[in-house]
Amino acid sequence: MENTVKIISVTEVTHDVRCIRMEKPANYHFRPGQATDVSINKPGWVSEQRPFTFTALNDDPYLEFTIKCYPERKGVTNELRSITTGDELIIRTPWGAIEYKDEGYFIAGGAGITPFIAILRQLNKDGRLGKNKLFFSNKTSGDIIYEQELFAMLGDNVVFILTQDSMGKYAHDFIDDIFLENHVEDFNRNFYLCGPDKMTANVSQILISHGSKPDTVIFEK
Ligand SMILES: Cc1cc2nc3c(=O)[nH]c(=O)nc-3n(C[C@H](O)[C@H](O)[C@H](O)COP(=O)(O)OP(=O)(O)OC[C@H]3O[C@@H](n4cnc5c(N)ncnc54)[C@H](O)[C@@H]3O)c2cc1C
Repeated sequence: MENTVKIISVTEVTHDVRCIRMEKPANYHFRPGQATDVSINKPGWVSEQRPFTFTALNDDPYLEFTIKCYPERKGVTNELRSITTGDELIIRTPWGAIEYKDEGYFIAGGAGITPFIAILRQLNKDGRLGKNKLFFSNKTSGDIIYEQELFAMLGDNVVFILTQDSMGKYAHDFIDDIFLENHVEDFNRNFYLCGPDKMTANVSQILISHGSKPDTVIFEK
């Protein structure tokens, strides 16, 4: 399935992250946490497909991506830096393994927050955020995507961690075994992981070594 969709707005979220909203095709549905393969409908770019995650709610009248751009790679995300209202993207069938099961811990690094944005926004709308907790790691405070919204939704249940800076209200830390031992009350709950491959692999190994069952550690394989 391919749909060509017109961009209705582009806003800057951080110094290198953009929120792109698009018209939503009739009967297009995704599960919060899912992505789709996206290309830019411009000569030379149509066959360059990259996965991006839907960050709006299924009920919203538009689709939304929240995209970190890498100018140095000269690839699709660099090209998306100059995309604007009225331009078009091509989206395909939604896919992905990250799906909300039950309360637990969300652990995200950088743009790895995107599947959790969709899930947390939906839970918030449904009044089901409960005791879900988010650990969100970034290099600097300027890299934190949707910080205010995440804090408004989760309050004390979000911990922002900076790996490069140490600034007042943020924890200067790494999500390693000591961090997890200090912050996780129950390793039998669900864990949702998304971030750089190395971080996901390390954290999942730590969780398993602390007794988490593989089917409760959810990430994109
Ligand atoms: C399921 C899934 C969902 C995703 N959802 C999102 C999302 O919602 N938002 C988001 O921001 N990202 C998301 N991503 C990541 C996103 O797909 C990549 O950032 C994107 O594919 C990068 O595309 P690009 O063309 O800009 O660069 P790439 O295709 O990564 O690279 C282009 C070229 O640059 C070079 N290159 C590659 N890596 C590096 C590097 N580290 N340093 C220097 N040069 C390099 C290589 O020559 C490569 O061919 C998701 C990924 C997956 C798997």
